[in-house]
Amino acid sequence: MSIKSDLISYTDAGFPIIYINSFEETKIDKMIREVMGGREGLEWNGANGFCTFYDKKPLIREKSLADTLDILCNDEALESKFLVLKDTHLYFDDFKIIACLKDLALQITSNELDFSVIIVSPVLRIPKELEKYVTIIENEYPDQNEIKNIIKRFCGEVGATITDNLLEEMSISFKGLTEFEIDNLLALALADDGMLTRGDLQLIFTQKRQMIMKSGILEMIELKERPDDIGGLENLKEWLDRKSKVFKAMNRALEYGVDMPKGVLIAGVPGCGKSLCAKVTAQMFDVPLLRLDMGKIMGRYVGESEENMRKAIALAEAISPCVLWIDELEKAFAGVGGGGNEVTVRLFGTFLTWMQEKTSATFVVATANDISNLPPELLRKGRFDDTFYVGLPNQDERRKIFEIHIGKRRKQDLKDIDLYDLVDESGGYSGADIEGVVIEAVENAFVENAPSLNTQHILDVMENTNSVSDIMGDSLNEMEESYNERNFKSASR
Ligand code: ATP
Repeated sequence: MSIKSDLISYTDAGFPIIYINSFEETKIDKMIREVMGGREGLEWNGANGFCTFYDKKPLIREKSLADTLDILCNDEALESKFLVLKDTHLYFDDFKIIACLKDLALQITSNELDFSVIIVSPVLRIPKELEKYVTIIENEYPDQNEIKNIIKRFCGEVGATITDNLLEEMSISFKGLTEFEIDNLLALALADDGMLTRGDLQLIFTQKRQMIMKSGILEMIELKERPDDIGGLENLKEWLDRKSKVFKAMNRALEYGVDMPKGVLIAGVPGCGKSLCAKVTAQMFDVPLLRLDMGKIMGRYVGESEENMRKAIALAEAISPCVLWIDELEKAFAGVGGGGNEVTVRLFGTFLTWMQEKTSATFVVATANDISNLPPELLRKGRFDDTFYVGLPNQDERRKIFEIHIGKRRKQDLKDIDLYDLVDESGGYSGADIEGVVIEAVENAFVENAPSLNTQHILDVMENTNSVSDIMGDSLNEMEESYNERNFKSASR
């Protein structure tokens, strides 16, 4: 169902308060106009105060929301009208406002009054006292067939044509956007040359990235890294390669009886390539990479964090097939088992249930440094397909990592550099340490006008470098032991 048909059914059925959770006020206004056409409309918003809905003419000057609602509760002439409220989530701490809305809702549900209250807000925040009177309408993400119909309808309206191939491609690239957003992008795509062409797919991708960013909880990451950019971690790369074969031939694999890949947990020493692996996974699977920022999920109000989590999951599922990268998992869920705070526990519950029941092609890559405080339920079979431990790179891996980072900057000098010398001197270094050393050595060589980068430039920098092992000391061994106890597989061969 679309927002519009939801609104029609709910107002027809006499639901007292309808909460439209959307940031597209102008579009929602237009839709309310179409649905409520014959009825007189009132509005309160932060900028205009109390005004008429259709032309925003002030009704009573400078009245606060509380005073406006107080007047309306006792107004004899509300019959058959409707009231639109905007920016109200900012005022839901005010008991008077809640009491007046409840009073109006009671009058409507007891059939004393034929009236509708429509709250339009980008933030879903419903006071406990109003919960049973409020019906929520959310932006829904159309599926691929519905998207095709939206594109065809749009083409019909503006007299544009579209080939079957382009229709197919566009309908995939619009996944994860609302009907309003799709309409806007189609108009934009048409505006440059009066036609819908393959060239517009790039525009759609760029705009879609923007929109996903605006959602504030997911970020779409550009894919630059390839499997060859990872030095070592052969076990993990091989495992990912196998999953990518299933993922890329999803329909055939499911028909064959293969289970849908769920995801992987990659934990271990900082700077040893966990994030790199998340990025490469999306590249190997040939799908977009979405990063979930746990910090942004945590909201201020009751229920807001779970709501954000639900939204992020819904958005990722709508965009699927995709890789959803959950960075720093331990920051979100640490301490849940030990009676962590209530919001974290509920958030964790939402996430676990989703992981357990997930059937969409959303492959989760969760990365973590320290799993010692993660709840054991998360590590149980059935949540992730597998769990990997990324430790300090061994000799062979260090050689490859040096090769990769020198090769990226001074490929021509590689043949004269004694990689074995560097490997000998770099025990206890992480991949990030090695990268840092190479970056500094190349800069030093340039500043001293050296014709090329040599082994000594790199050794000199290493002499003054504190590696991750120097910094973390014994805690690295403890970390390794705790992964072994929990049966994490080694990412390295
Ligand atoms: P953190 O836990 O601190 O986020 P991480 O394990 O996610 O660290 P990355 O962000 O993947 O580490 O690594 C940091 C940088 O170090 C990478 O961008 C990459 O350039 C380099 N690096 C780390 N490990 C490797 C590796 N195995 N091969 C090549 N480069 C590596």
